[in-house]
Amino acid sequence: MGKSFPMPQTLSAPESWPWPPIIRASVGWHLLAIAAGVLVPGAAPWAIGAIVLNHVLITAAGLTPRSSLLGPNVTRLPQPAVARHEVAITIDDGPDPEVTPQVLDQLDAHGQRATFFCIAERVLEHPALAREIVARGHSIQNHTARHRHNFSFLGPRGFAAEISRAQQVLQEVTGERPTCFRAPAGLRNPFLAPVLHRMGLSLVSWTRRGFDTRERNAATVLARLTRDLQAGDILLLHDGHAARTAAGRPIVLEVLPPLLARIHANGLRAVTLPEALAA
Ligand SMILES: [Zn+2]
Repeated sequence: MGKSFPMPQTLSAPESWPWPPIIRASVGWHLLAIAAGVLVPGAAPWAIGAIVLNHVLITAAGLTPRSSLLGPNVTRLPQPAVARHEVAITIDDGPDPEVTPQVLDQLDAHGQRATFFCIAERVLEHPALAREIVARGHSIQNHTARHRHNFSFLGPRGFAAEISRAQQVLQEVTGERPTCFRAPAGLRNPFLAPVLHRMGLSLVSWTRRGFDTRERNAATVLARLTRDLQAGDILLLHDGHAARTAAGRPIVLEVLPPLLARIHANGLRAVTLPEALAA
C-alpha cells in the first residue's frame, strides 16, 4: 500500500537515436507489402516475397562487418589521425597468458602502441595481464563478456547484458572505461547500434584483417594487412584464438615484428584507438 518500486530500467533507445535509413525504409516496405497483400487480389505471394527479400538484405548487412547500413561503424581512422600519420593495430580475443606477454614485448621493442579488444571473462582469468597491457601504454576495449558464437542473433536485452557486463569488468580491472566496441567476428543485427549509442560506445571494425585465426601462413597474413598500407588504416590481428604456424608458433608473433617494421618504414605510427579517435 503506497509502497513505491524502483522504475525498471528501460531498454528502449533514447529518442535521439537516429534509426538508419535502411531500417526506416524497411518499416515502410513492410507496411506497403502488407497493404498490397491484403488489398490487391493475388498479390499475397509477392508481398511475402518482398518481405523475405527485405530480411535477406538486412541480414546480409549484419553479416558484413565493415557495413555502415545498420548504424555508425568506424572502418578507418578520422582525418586528424591521418594527418598525424597514424594507424591503429587492434588485437582481439585475449588476453592470453602465453601469447599476450610476447605481443607486449614486440610492441615495446618497436616503440608502438596497440588496442586490445579483450573478452571480459578472459580479463577476469588474467587480471594482472590486463593491467600490464594498460600500464605499458596500450588500450583495452570492449569485445563482449563471453564472445558468444550466437552474439549476432541476440536482441536488445542480450546485447545490453553482454556489453554492459564487459564494461563493468574492464573498468573494475583496468580502471579505464572502454569507449570502443567490436562484435565477435564483426557480426551483428539492427538492435546493436541503439544499445551502443545508449552506452556511449563506438562500433569499430577494421580497414583490413589477416584472417589470422584460420590462416597458418604468416606471409599471407602480413601481405593481407600491408596491401596499400597507409595512414588511417585499422588493422586486425588476434592474440586469443590465434592460428599456429606449421612449427606451432602463434601467427600474430610471426606477423607483428615485420608489420611494425613496415609501419615505421612507411613513416607511420601505431597508436591506440582512443588516441587516434581524439579530435
Ligand atoms: Zn573476437
